[in-house]
Amino acid sequence: MLFWLKKNYKCYTATDIDSIICAELPDQNIDPMLYKIVSQFMIHGPCGELNSKSPCMRDGKCSKFYPKPYKMNTTFETNVAPIYRRRDDETKFVMKKGVRIDNRFVVPYNQDLLLRYNAHINVESCSQSMLIKYLFKYINKGPDRARVGFQENLNDEIQAYLSCRYISPPEAIWRLFEYPIHSRHPAVERLAVHMFLEQNIVFDENQSLDSVLSNKCSKDTMLTGWFKANELYSDAKTLTYAEFPSKFVWDRQKSLWKPRKQGYSIGRIANVYHTASELYYLRMLLNVQKGCSSYAAVRTIDNILYPSYQDAYRALGLLGDDKEWSEALINTSYTASCSEIRHLFVTIILFCEVANPQQLFNAHWRCMCDDLLYKLQTNFAMPNLVVPDSELQNSLLFELEQILNTSSSSLKDHRLPMPDENKMLELRNKLLREELDYDRIALQQEHSILLP
Ligand SMILES: [Zn+2]
Repeated sequence: MLFWLKKNYKCYTATDIDSIICAELPDQNIDPMLYKIVSQFMIHGPCGELNSKSPCMRDGKCSKFYPKPYKMNTTFETNVAPIYRRRDDETKFVMKKGVRIDNRFVVPYNQDLLLRYNAHINVESCSQSMLIKYLFKYINKGPDRARVGFQENLNDEIQAYLSCRYISPPEAIWRLFEYPIHSRHPAVERLAVHMFLEQNIVFDENQSLDSVLSNKCSKDTMLTGWFKANELYSDAKTLTYAEFPSKFVWDRQKSLWKPRKQGYSIGRIANVYHTASELYYLRMLLNVQKGCSSYAAVRTIDNILYPSYQDAYRALGLLGDDKEWSEALINTSYTASCSEIRHLFVTIILFCEVANPQQLFNAHWRCMCDDLLYKLQTNFAMPNLVVPDSELQNSLLFELEQILNTSSSSLKDHRLPMPDENKMLELRNKLLREELDYDRIALQQEHSILLP
């Protein structure tokens, strides 16, 4: 279950984390009840050297990365999973299968929850803002499913399969009580965008052309309604199209904007693909321009009417330095996964006449490689693996080159550096990784203590 904490309870520091989550054995004398529960339910393994036959072992290592290293204090940084405090304390231990188990094997837990439910309840913090998009990918994937196969004749693979829907007990209860499945705040008004006279019109197939023209065309879309509202209301002129729903409400029946009396809503202009040319630039201008009363007004900058939206956009000084492609990548990075951003980057490079691809790459490469680092960390079973930027960039270039290859293109056609083959081999070399994966700061400290 994923819980959102109210503002006053959110974790901003390591101390906040410590007040909710603990990964250490409690004191047996002070808190015998909690000690009993933690030692019964919240001890991982034993695995690793103590028990190489534990089911969690993969290739001689614990797949859950136990035993965890000792840690004097909890560390909590932006965009890195928190590392919980596990002090090296000889007095804190529990005996399991004849082995002495200490804080390194404790699964993170919450005291109150354990005392209340007397069961295994693992509690972890996942409050890094960059994780949000991945959290929602998981939550939005739909209910858990299990595929069950019944087979009599082992040769008949296709016929014997049933795809079943599996609902876990908590989800079943949630739905039986008709609790809300989702909610959204604040309300988002999706704003239509279209070129002059290119709005969608819906009509009945039996309607005569005359009645279609007289009825539907007279109705305004949100955009043309915005033009009219700008003439009607003086305070409308202080808002861009996207900001408009904060002070005005769209009346669907009458197809017009009315001043907002209550509530709050934010506007988002419908997405337009960056290759849509003029429509794309119209959308970009609508994010900047205020108080326009016509299409012409949108492309009027400093009292000069420009022939196209692109020209007007350029006159604002927003074009020519790849700024629009930068914007496109930044906007996408909030919601898209890395592989989607890589594909977008390649599309932009291929079709959008980018002035300086290297500069664009330098500015945005980091948002394209979350998964590359994650894959290396899981493949090597080294959760704290640090890969230098140059090597991460290199492996990103390798991914980009592969996408470009599918379009019969290459990085070198676009003045971007080619990935270094040798570096790629090194990156995939586990032995080398392990030998390079030192905690340099800790070693330096140890060195300065031991040397004297
Ligand atoms: Zn294990």
